[in-house]
Amino acid sequence: MNHIENSHEYTGLTVNSGVSQPPSVNPYIQRRKRKPLPSAGELVEGILKGDITMLSRAVTLVESLSPAHQSVAQEVIEKCLPYSGHSKRIGITGVPGAGKSTSIDVFGLHVLKSGGKLAVLAIDPSSERTKGSILGDKTRMEKLAVHPNAFIRPSPSAGSLGGVARKTRETIVLCEAAGFNNIFVETVGVGQSETAVHSMVDFFLLIQLAGTGDELQGIKRGIMEMADGIVINKADGDNIKRAQLAQAQFRSALQLFPPTASGWKPEVLTYSGYFELGIPEVWNMIDRYFEFAIANGYFDLKRRQQARYWMLETIDEQLRSHFYQNPDIAAMLAEKEQLVLSNRLSSFIAARDVLQTYFSNK
Ligand code: GDP
Repeated sequence: MNHIENSHEYTGLTVNSGVSQPPSVNPYIQRRKRKPLPSAGELVEGILKGDITMLSRAVTLVESLSPAHQSVAQEVIEKCLPYSGHSKRIGITGVPGAGKSTSIDVFGLHVLKSGGKLAVLAIDPSSERTKGSILGDKTRMEKLAVHPNAFIRPSPSAGSLGGVARKTRETIVLCEAAGFNNIFVETVGVGQSETAVHSMVDFFLLIQLAGTGDELQGIKRGIMEMADGIVINKADGDNIKRAQLAQAQFRSALQLFPPTASGWKPEVLTYSGYFELGIPEVWNMIDRYFEFAIANGYFDLKRRQQARYWMLETIDEQLRSHFYQNPDIAAMLAEKEQLVLSNRLSSFIAARDVLQTYFSNK
């Protein structure tokens, strides 16, 4: 092959042609056969026995886009539902760098000290773009990753936020059926994913950092309103004073908020995930919340409301995907889009035309 580098511009440089790529590095190697897909019954049996391999395979089916996988997944979920619900579901959020993975690692070990099992799941809408999520990544939670009673699963990566969130919600059901009595759902505290996480957990923990004194500015009010507990991380070394100041600021800010639906007053604590300071105190707060919400009935009420929310969300999501995946609609949409972009058709008339076609094809 005549390489461009061999032209006279590149004097002193000669590039030899290489050898062609052999069809296989080792022609004697046998291609590994794919393991056959277990049936829904086998998966359920494995999950109920706490078999992690079967649990992982079922979660993979939940995350799969293939309709055949989806139908097995739905059957598994349905059969697992009666065994689900017996766990503490805790949402954990914070901006990148707040210390989520460090904290989840130590919070997780603390929880596991009193027995039981812990699943760490994640919702990361950005993974849609980056094709793979770092949230819930095992390498970020070194101690939990090797703990026999911990199951870590990164965020499902395909689809809309609604789709990603639904998959995590379904994974919770499977984990609970497999005997996981603690579920953490991690998310990045920067966008709408908090609402999705909030709608699937019992307790919502917001990890904050002490900053320059105006930390309240950068936080979306909505996220603070959702929090049942705000914990200020990195309260160690010469950062302790600043963390305490931030604590006082958050406390006074919370007083301006309307009372929560549960009647619980969100608490603000400081801790250090890295130096493992104040961890039992954070957990003590969460335990107190559960006692409080179970006793006044809010725990149950919230779970029922969440079940309704997920029914409606699922309908929403499936309607959308049925619509957008219809090839006739996709073609028509592309055409109408051009007309709308070039001002030759109004948005509303374009929408009406497409919807009419969709509904008349039903
Ligand atoms: P994430 O992006 O929210 O998951 O944050 P990480 O857990 O990866 O932590 C971000 C950085 O903060 C890392 O360099 C951690 O070592 C550091 N870090 C986490 N927790 C603490 C803490 O309690 N104290 C101090 N000083 N540093 C911490």
